[in-house]
Amino acid sequence: MKKISDFVLGMDESVTLAAANRAKQLKSEGRDIIDLTLGQPDFKTPENIGNAAIAAIQNGKASFYTQAGGLPELKAAVQSYFADFYGYAIEQNQVLITTGAKFALYAYFQSVLDADDEVIIPAPYWVSYVDQVKMAGGKPVIVKATQENHFKVTVAQLEAVITDKTKVLLLNSPSNPTGMIYSKEELTAIGNWAVEHDLLILADDIYCHLIYGDASFTAISSLSEDIRKRTMVINGASKTYAMTGWRIGFAVGDSEIISAMTKFASQTTSNPTAISQYATIEALTGDKSQIEFMRKTFEERLNTIYPLLADIPGFEVVKPNGAFYLFPKVTKAMEMKGYTDVTAFTTAILEEAGVALVTGAGFGSPENVRLSYSTDMDSLKVAVERIKNWINSSNQSSGTSN
Ligand code: PMP
Ligand code: GLU
Repeated sequence: MKKISDFVLGMDESVTLAAANRAKQLKSEGRDIIDLTLGQPDFKTPENIGNAAIAAIQNGKASFYTQAGGLPELKAAVQSYFADFYGYAIEQNQVLITTGAKFALYAYFQSVLDADDEVIIPAPYWVSYVDQVKMAGGKPVIVKATQENHFKVTVAQLEAVITDKTKVLLLNSPSNPTGMIYSKEELTAIGNWAVEHDLLILADDIYCHLIYGDASFTAISSLSEDIRKRTMVINGASKTYAMTGWRIGFAVGDSEIISAMTKFASQTTSNPTAISQYATIEALTGDKSQIEFMRKTFEERLNTIYPLLADIPGFEVVKPNGAFYLFPKVTKAMEMKGYTDVTAFTTAILEEAGVALVTGAGFGSPENVRLSYSTDMDSLKVAVERIKNWINSSNQSSGTSN
C-alpha cells in the first residue's frame, strides 16, 4: 500500500529545521558541535511576558478556545502597535492572530492563490516560502538578487519576470538569510511598480526590530495609501520578544483577505494557543526594556564576528544590517577544499570541524552558507576559528567532492 500522498512526497523538509535536528542528534551522541543553524534568539523570554502567561493559566482565562482569528484584546494590542510603530491606523477586522508567522504566510497563500497563480520571490529567500506557495497550487517565480547588489532585487529584474499570471510580490526586509534591508527609496520604487501592475504585496517584516548601525527599517506598507491597500504585513512575537516556542504571529492587511484567512484558520488550527496569546498581549503592551538589550547584544556579536568570518580564506561576506544571520559566499573555499556542492561542503564542516551551518541551497543560493549568530559570543568565536582551521588544514579535503 502506498502510504504517503504524492503531495507530501513532493515536499521538501525545512532545511533549517533539518540542519538543527542533525546538530541536536550529534550533540546527544556526545559530539562537540557548535550549533549555528537555527534562527531563534538564544534569550529566555522576558519575565513579564512569562508572568502574564502564568496569570492567564491561574485565573482560568487560558483554559478555553479563543476566537479563531485571535483574542480581541490581542488584536487591539496589534492595532496600538501599528499606530505606534508603523505609523498608521488599522481596524480590528484587518488583523489575524496566527500560530506563528509561518502559519500566517501559509494561510495567506492558501487564501489568495488559485492554480498556477505566480508569486515573485526574491532569492536568497527564507526556506518555507517556495514550498508554501507550491502547497497552495501556486507557482514560485524566483528572482535572484546578487551578492554584488547586496542581495537586493531591482525593478528591472521584477519587470523581466512579470506575466499575466503574476499575483503576489513577496518582500522580506530585513531578510532571512542575508540580513539586508531595503531603503525607503528602493521600496518606493518597488511598491509603485507593484501598484502599476496591480499586484498584491506580501511584506514579511518579522525582523523589523533587529536593525544595526546606521540602518533603519522602512515598512513598505507605510509608503502610500495605494501600496498599503494591497499589502499584507506578516509579523509576530518570535524574533522581537524571544518567543519562538510560543508560536504567535499576525497578519495585517485587507479585511476581505483577512476574513478568508480567518475562515481557513477556523478549519485548521481553531485558534492560536490561548496561553501564548495572553503572553503576547503583555509583550506588545508591557515593559520592553529587554528588547533593546537583546538587539544590542546581537549587534555586538555581528560587529565582532563579521570581520573574523570575512578573514576566513575563501569566504566572501557582505556585512548585513538586520536580522541575525551572516550569509557568506563560499565558492572559493569550496574550490580550495575540493567541493562542488554546497550541501556536501556544509556537511563536511559539521562532521570535520564540529560547526553546524545551514546550506545555502535551501535558500535558493547554492554559493552560500548561512550562519546564525543567535548564540553566545564565545561559541561564535570558537566556531569561526574552527572553520578557519578546517579550511587551512589542507587544500584537499578528506571528504568526497560532491
Ligand atoms: N518569516 C521569516 C523570514 C522567518 O525567518 C521565520 C522563522 N524564523 C518566520 C517567518 C516564521 O516565524 P514564526 O513562525 O516563528 O513566527
Ligand atoms: N525561521 C527560522 C530559521 O530560519 C526558524 C526555522 C524555521 O522556521 O524554518 O532558522
